[in-house]
Formats: sequence, structure tokens, C-alpha cells
Amino acid sequence: MAHEEAAAAGPSKLVVRNIGLMLSGDLATPILDADALVAIDGRISAIGRAADLDLSGATTVIDANGVTLAPGLIDSHVHPVAGDWTPRQNQLGWIDSCLHGGVTTMISAGEVHTPGRPRDVVGVKAMAIYAQRCFSSFRASGVKVHAGAPVIEPGLEEKDFAELAQAGIRYLGEVGLGGVKDGPTARKMVAWARKYGINSTIHTGGPSIPGSGLIDKDIVLEADTDVIGHINGGHTALPDDQIRCLCEQCKRGLELVHNGNERAALVTLRAAKELNQLDRVILGTDAPAGSGVQPLGILRMISLLASLGEVPAEIAVCFATGNTARMRALDCGLIEVGRAADFVFLDRAQHSAGRTLLESVALGDLPGVGMTVIDGIVRSQRSRNTPPATRVPSVVTG
Ligand SMILES: [Zn+2]
Repeated sequence: MAHEEAAAAGPSKLVVRNIGLMLSGDLATPILDADALVAIDGRISAIGRAADLDLSGATTVIDANGVTLAPGLIDSHVHPVAGDWTPRQNQLGWIDSCLHGGVTTMISAGEVHTPGRPRDVVGVKAMAIYAQRCFSSFRASGVKVHAGAPVIEPGLEEKDFAELAQAGIRYLGEVGLGGVKDGPTARKMVAWARKYGINSTIHTGGPSIPGSGLIDKDIVLEADTDVIGHINGGHTALPDDQIRCLCEQCKRGLELVHNGNERAALVTLRAAKELNQLDRVILGTDAPAGSGVQPLGILRMISLLASLGEVPAEIAVCFATGNTARMRALDCGLIEVGRAADFVFLDRAQHSAGRTLLESVALGDLPGVGMTVIDGIVRSQRSRNTPPATRVPSVVTG
């Protein structure tokens, strides 16, 4: 757990060498000319060719064994409740399962599955702060869950957003899952949230479960959240012309989720490509939900978009890493000096028709996860959930 690591004596130095391919998470330069990386105390401190870096004095050395290193995947849309338990499917260990799918960071879109969740102003604020505190002091399997995402309800005032921000709240839950379902009220509250540095998202499309409602393009445009949450529906998508309109008439994030409509995801991707605005595309699972938990959901979205959406695999990886990090103001998601040392090691799955990792993903296969690292610490090794990676990294010292 984080507080134990912080108490450990002396600086930690992680060296990763023999990296076959380094994916940056950055659309501008998705592939880096580098085969080694150094992280000090959980932050990336050097990237380059092994011969040019100071690899001495490492406390941990990982031999990547020629596999691909990418930023740890970010799930922009989860619905956590309590630790590693979800009441929606009454399942334990779902976050750990997602770590085995390469996800190292999750952003809550609201703790909406909390049994008996409060709807009054004091209750909404209390629950958000409680969730933020719980998930920041207990990380299931090391995964960073940014929870405490209040879902706006009638009666919230500007001072409430100031108070929430002051208390450490950074994200709003999906607008539309609470009592505020009209454009003008949503717009006013989203603007207050933004004023105090709280990033926002909205439920787009038809109702997800009994009790939620339709949010169409007019409400989405009026509310003006930072992210158009599951623009491909959760699961019921808006008509194509409305999706197109959202892509063209605003510059907000286009979030594609696994628990959404796959065809609508491809419609959105095509529009973003035509507009030359792929930097707006980010990925989530929208899990746990009625559709369940998908430990490989983000990898499946990457493979879906790279194969049927005709974007290069290394670009699809950016949708789940650097794009999300920038849009959601996170310090991870990019292989860049100063960023959090959160990584996933990938290789082509055994017996994939693709000869390389990128080719296998372009063919629609899932990669095999060989290891994850969060804050410079190895959190998992060969995934129990992905198809087996052809090669896996190993910890040589540490
Ligand atoms: Zn939703």
C-alpha cells in the first residue's frame, strides 16, 4: 500500500532494459526510439538507449526480454463502490482482474451502485468525499482509482462545488444519472465544477438500467462537460447523425466504452478521424455495469478500433493512455520524464497470426500482458486473464 512504500528507506531506482518496442502514449510520436528506461522513486527519470543511460545502482532491474512497454492503461469510466467489491454483480476482485488486463488507473464516473446512495445535497457531498478518501488510502492491487465522483442533484450551489474541490474531489460523476437531467441546470453546475478544477462527464444516449434516462445531443452540447461520456451509448447509442453532430459541434472528449454500442464507437472514431481530432478519443469500460465487468475491456477496445476502425495499433494505445491523461489531468499515461512510472508489458499472444505485437492487434487479436508496474513497483506478472504472451519480462534483481 502507498503509505508503506512511502515509509521505505532510501530512494528506489527501477531500471527496465531490453525493451523491444516502446510505445509513448503520445499521438505525435507514438513509438519512441529507445530500449531502456529508468525510474527514481516511482517517476520516470530517463528514457533512451541502454548504452546512453546510467543504469547503475538499481534497486530493481526488469529484463523486458524484447517485449513492448506501454504506459499503464487508463480506464476513463468505472463505477467503483467499496474497495475491490462491486455490488452490481456482487463480485470480488474486479479491480485486480482489470490490472491483469493492463489497467493501472481508473476514473470513477460516479459511485452510483452504492446501495441506498443518498440523493440530497449533504448526502451527495458526504458520499463523494468518503469514496475519495477510501480509494486514495486503499489501493486494490496497487491500481489508482480516482473515486469520489459526485452525481449532480438539484439544489447543489456554487459553494458546494468549492467545498468539494477543497476536499480533494477532482471528477464529477456522469451528469444525468442523478436528478439533474435538463441542459440549463447541468450547464450551470458543470461550469461551477470547472471553475473549481473539477473535470466532468455526462451519460450520453438511452437509459442504461431502469431508473436512468435518455440524454440526447442537445443536452450534451448544452451541459458542455469536459468529456462526452460513452458517446457510443451505455449501452443504447444515439442515432448516427446525433453522434456526428456531437463530434462536429464541440471540442470535448469523445469517450468510447466497452459496455457500449460497438458500431456507434466506430461511427465516432470515423468522424474524429475525418475531423483530424483523434486527440479527443479516450477509452473506458463503463464497468461494473449491467453488462458486467470486463477485465480485458480496454485491451478489447484497442483491438476493436485498431482492426475495424483502421487506426494503427500504436495510435489506438494512445486513446487509452496519453489522450486520457491529458484530458483528465493525470500525471501518468505517457512515457515521458517526470511522469508516474506506470507501465504495462505486452507481447503478441501465443499463436497469433500477427508476427509482431502491433500486427496482432491490427488483426483484432488481444495482446498478452506479461507484467504491470505502478509507481515503479511490479504489481503483477504473467496475466491470468489475457491470452498468454509469447515472451514475458522478468525481474532480474530487486
Ligand atoms: Zn452512463
